[in-house]
Amino acid sequence: MARYTGPVCRLCRREGEKLFLKGDRCYTDKCAIERRSYPPGQHGQGRQKESEYGLHLREKQKLRRIYGVLERQFRRYYDRASRQSGITGENLLRLLELRLDNIVYRMGFASSRAQARQLVMHGHFAVNGQKTDIPSFEVKVGDVITVRENSRDMQLVRANIEAAEGRTFPEWLDANLEQMEGRILAVPTREQMDISIQEHLIVEFYSR
Ligand code: SF4
Repeated sequence: MARYTGPVCRLCRREGEKLFLKGDRCYTDKCAIERRSYPPGQHGQGRQKESEYGLHLREKQKLRRIYGVLERQFRRYYDRASRQSGITGENLLRLLELRLDNIVYRMGFASSRAQARQLVMHGHFAVNGQKTDIPSFEVKVGDVITVRENSRDMQLVRANIEAAEGRTFPEWLDANLEQMEGRILAVPTREQMDISIQEHLIVEFYSR
């Protein structure tokens, strides 16, 4: 399963904002955006002239990077979203939001989506009692996500849960950190998806 393996803070600098790709570090003054808030590369500090195409492209790249999805898979998500009824941009966000790695992150079992992806791939989670190690697995309403029995003592998972205690979760999820499980209560609406993206720009990008 292909994924981006280069320097991740560079991606935030490219987009000009925090994408919270590194978990705890993103909340400290070690964050690269705090230190060098200009784009990476030789011309990063030069004058940036953004075309309309550039605006659309940046929004698409930003969303893709937030969820850690490569271009080909992202395009497939877009194609599926455009075939569904409703607003394509919202459908796209919903498909990404319902990925298992995102759910594990949202429920507080991982400190970032990248970490969630790795934990899922290493087989630490089950969906409805069935071991599931595919980060892109699409969860449905009513699915129960649990930390598997043998992984319950993992220091990393325990530390994440401790850090997540007292946090408010999206209302479409029910996370029981003590029991190390969570349930999907509903399909999220646009308002419930806490993500600062102008999805119509992405639709315009692919509709050119
Ligand atoms: Fe982005 Fe986090 Fe790196 Fe800051 S520390 S630049 S928010 S990945």
